[in-house]
Amino acid sequence: MTNGFLAIPQQTDVLIVGAGPVGLALALDLGWRGISCLIVDQGTGDIAHPRTGLVSSRTMEFCRRWGLAPAVRACGFPADFPLNIVFCTSLAGHTLGRADYPSMRDLPTPPETPEKKQRCPQSWFDPILRGAVERQPTATLRHGIRLDSFRQDAKGVAGELTELTGGARHTVRASYMVGCDGASSQVRESLGIAMEGAHALSYSINLLLRIPDFASQHDKGLAERYLFAGRQGVWANLTVVDGGETWRLTVLGSDAKMDLASFDADAAVRAAFGQDDARFEVTSVVPWRRSQLLAERFREGRVLLAGDAAHTMSPTGGMGANTGVQDAVDLGWKLAAVLRGWGGDALLDSYTAERRPVAARAAAFSTGNFRAWTAAKDCAAMLDETSEGEALRAQVGRTLADSTQVEWESLGLQLGYRYEASPVCVPDGTPPPADEHARYVQTARPGHRAPHAWLPDGRSTLDLFGQGFVLMASSGANSAALDAAARRRRVPFSVHRINDAGVAALYDAPLVLVRPDGHVAWRGDDHPDPDTLLAIVTGH
Ligand SMILES: Cc1cc2nc3c(=O)[nH]c(=O)nc-3n(C[C@H](O)[C@H](O)[C@H](O)COP(=O)(O)OP(=O)(O)OC[C@H]3O[C@@H](n4cnc5c(N)ncnc54)[C@H](O)[C@@H]3O)c2cc1C
Repeated sequence: MTNGFLAIPQQTDVLIVGAGPVGLALALDLGWRGISCLIVDQGTGDIAHPRTGLVSSRTMEFCRRWGLAPAVRACGFPADFPLNIVFCTSLAGHTLGRADYPSMRDLPTPPETPEKKQRCPQSWFDPILRGAVERQPTATLRHGIRLDSFRQDAKGVAGELTELTGGARHTVRASYMVGCDGASSQVRESLGIAMEGAHALSYSINLLLRIPDFASQHDKGLAERYLFAGRQGVWANLTVVDGGETWRLTVLGSDAKMDLASFDADAAVRAAFGQDDARFEVTSVVPWRRSQLLAERFREGRVLLAGDAAHTMSPTGGMGANTGVQDAVDLGWKLAAVLRGWGGDALLDSYTAERRPVAARAAAFSTGNFRAWTAAKDCAAMLDETSEGEALRAQVGRTLADSTQVEWESLGLQLGYRYEASPVCVPDGTPPPADEHARYVQTARPGHRAPHAWLPDGRSTLDLFGQGFVLMASSGANSAALDAAARRRRVPFSVHRINDAGVAALYDAPLVLVRPDGHVAWRGDDHPDPDTLLAIVTGH
C-alpha cells in the first residue's frame, strides 16, 4: 500500500490521528520507547498560520528528555529580542503602561528546573518534533491522509483512511488509537463524548502579518506583545512570531460571531498602528472561536483523546499545546506499558483521572487572563485628551500590567500540576501544598513532578527518568525488596542511590518511586508489600 511512494503500514501498535504538536509529541514519545505507531494528518504539514509561540518550562524538560532542547533553543528566535509587553491606544498613540521582561538570553533559568521556557513559533517547533519523529525507526508519519471512520472491538481498532491525493483507501489495524485531531475532533464526536464548559468566550480573528521595518514604524520600542485599548476597551493584541518580520494581530472580537465578509483586515492593522500609511502585508486571516471546554472523558475503550481534542482553552497563558504535550507524556509510557504487558488496563483509565483536572486548571487560568484583559468596561474616555482620559489610561495600564504579570510569571502553573486523585499513585498522607500559579515549590509528594537538582556529574535528576521506574534511594535505604518485585513483574526498574544531602532533602523520604513520566508514584520507608505497590502503580 502506498502514499505516493511511501508505504502505509496496515498494522501498528498505536494509530495517532493528527500531526499537530500533540500528535507529534505522542509519536515521538512512543517511538522513543520503541513502540510502533502510525501518525496521519489530513494536512500537508505546512504551517501557514503558526499559533503556538511559547514553549513552557515543562515542555522544554520533555524536549530535553527527547534530546531536542538544544534544537528548540537554537530555533532562530533572536536571543536578544526584548520580551516586553506594551499597553497602548495604538502604536502611534498613548502608552498606558508597560511590563518589561528580559530577553531569552537574559532570562535566568529558575533553580527548580534545568530548562527555562523558550519562545519558538509553531512553524519552527512542529518541524523540530517532526524531524525527531521521522528519525524514530518505529514511528511512521504520513501527511495528506484523512481518518474517515473507525471501529473498535476487544482486540483493537480499525481505522479507515483516505489518501487525499488520488483517493486510495486503506484500513489500518492498531491496538490503540489516539485522537490528536484538534478542537473539532472527529474522533471525539464519533465516540459521542461531549464537551463541557464555555463554547464561546469570544469569536476572534487572527491576522498573520509581514511587517518590514517594524521597529522604525513607531516609537513604542520592541516588545513581545502590544495590547491595544480603545473606547471599546482592549480590542486586540499584536504578538511577535519569529522575532523578524512576522507578527500576529489577534482581534479579540465579542461573543457574537464575526462576519468575515465585512471584516476589514487592513483597517484593523491600521488601527493598531494608529496611522494610515503603515507598511505591512496581511498574509493570512483566520477566524476562530475562543473556548474553555473539557471532554467528559478522555478514553473510550481502545480510543483515547489528547490535546485540543480533549480540552480547549484561551491562548491567554500560552498553555494549550503545552498542556497537550503533557497529555502525550502521560499517555506514552502507559500505552507502552500495556502493550509490553507489564502495565494493566487501569493504567489507561488513570489517564482521564490524572489529566482532566490538570487541563481544567490550565483552562481556568487562561480564561482568567482573558477576562482580566477585557475587564475594563467603561472606556469611552480612553482617547480623550482630558484629565479624565489620562486617569483612565493610567488605571487601565495598571490593571493590564497586573494581569499580564499573572500570565507571565507562571512557573507554578507550568511545573506545579499534580495527579492528586490518581488511582495509580499511592498517597503518603501529607496534605497537598498550595497550588500557586506564580510560585513553584518542589516536592516529591506522590502525584507531583519529581524535583530537579543538579547531580555531581552535571546531570539533572530529571535526566534519570524516562524509560522505566526509578527508585530514588537514600544511602542505607533498603531497595532490594522493590527491586526483586520489579524483576518478578518484568517492570523496567532501576535504583539511583542518592549521595547528595541536597537531593536527599528534596526527595524527603528514604525511598521515592518515580514513574517513567517523571511523576512520583510512591514514597516512604520500606513498603510492607512491594508486589502490591507495583501492582497499583502499574495499573493491575
Ligand atoms: C492565537 C493562538 C495562540 C496560541 N499560542 C499558544 C502558545 O503560545 N502556547 C501553547 O501551548 N498553545 C498555544 N495555542 C494553542 C495551541 O495552538 C493548541 O492548543 C494546539 O495547536 C493544539 O495542538 P493539537 O495537536 O492538539 O491540535 P492541532 O494543532 O489543532 O492539530 C490537529 C491536527 O489534526 C489534523 N486532523 C484533524 N482531523 C483529522 C482527520 N480526520 N484525519 C487526519 N488528520 C486530522 C489536523 O490537520 C491538524 O493538523 C494558541 C492558540 C491560538 C489560537
